[in-house]
Amino acid sequence: MDTPVTHSPATCHTGAEQTVHFCAPRNNQPVPQSTNRWAVEDIEALFALPFPELMFKAQQVHREHFNPAEVEFATLLSIKTGGCPEDCGYCPQSVHYDTGVDATKLMEADKVREAAELAKAAGATRFCMGAAWRAPKDRDIENVVTLIKTVKDVGLEACCTLGMLTKDHAEQLKEAGLDYYNHNLDTAPENYGNIISTRDYQDRLDTLENVRNVGVNVCSGGIIGMGESRRQRAELIGQLANLHPHYPDSVPINNLVKVEGTPLAETDDIDPLEFVRMIAVARITMPKARVRLSAGRSAMADTMQALCFMAGANSIFYGEKLLTTGNPDVEADLNLIERLGMTAGKSGH
Ligand code: SF4
Repeated sequence: MDTPVTHSPATCHTGAEQTVHFCAPRNNQPVPQSTNRWAVEDIEALFALPFPELMFKAQQVHREHFNPAEVEFATLLSIKTGGCPEDCGYCPQSVHYDTGVDATKLMEADKVREAAELAKAAGATRFCMGAAWRAPKDRDIENVVTLIKTVKDVGLEACCTLGMLTKDHAEQLKEAGLDYYNHNLDTAPENYGNIISTRDYQDRLDTLENVRNVGVNVCSGGIIGMGESRRQRAELIGQLANLHPHYPDSVPINNLVKVEGTPLAETDDIDPLEFVRMIAVARITMPKARVRLSAGRSAMADTMQALCFMAGANSIFYGEKLLTTGNPDVEADLNLIERLGMTAGKSGH
């Protein structure tokens, strides 16, 4: 699976209006919560900065909260591939597109344990399991509970991406020990209907709320290079940075992986420097989040990845291809981190 399962929705427009929330008055004065801080225009202004200025600002913010020489290694394993009824225009796992991806059954616990142990040995600290579902059924949740317990037993943080989640399902996953739930907003609300028609943006936001309400950390980001404008990239950042009551704990930024057979296969490439700008703006607007270089990384030059780390990315997402001994992708990643004088780690300040 080259593109992480990212389970998304369609149109609903909420924009990124400045609806400031207030909590209980103190001395009769309303106290604004730390939410909805970023106007889209202000985010656009960050994008428009001269590149050295933007990088400098991003590095300042990064160093306030993290060791800039550390990068977190997260591993993604597809535990149930293909056959998804959704029509996300970038995804080879959708049944709507002929991409040659066969549907599989849910992976057994012993296979997941084997993969988690390999990932741990390769330096991963977080293990994410993705299943190509629109939304898991009760029985699916029971099975995933077993898999989460397996991953925790190996000694890794557990993350899942399973599609839309009810509050009840979120509670069951939390009880099993789930640390993070990934559910990407994918793109700006205005662009959503161009990419996905089988769900809407509010579905997406509802799942994030269900996850957060049970105390599971939220992992949510998006994909760029899907034909969106810079304004729409700023709107996506606004949606993430202004999430209530705070921005996601992890923010994966994906560069579209163009897969033959999907509607986005012929989309024009974005300027690599625009991708770096996206990372820098994510870092500035979501200072304490893990900003993760995700799908599309394997097509990036080492120099571009280095720029992304300098812009504030501090996590990388391995694909499941990592999970074979001596995998050249792993070797290349470790080599790059070493050449940059960086280390695998996840401490913050
Ligand atoms: S098509 Fe299905 S598996 Fe693919 S991103 Fe959309 S919801 Fe996830």
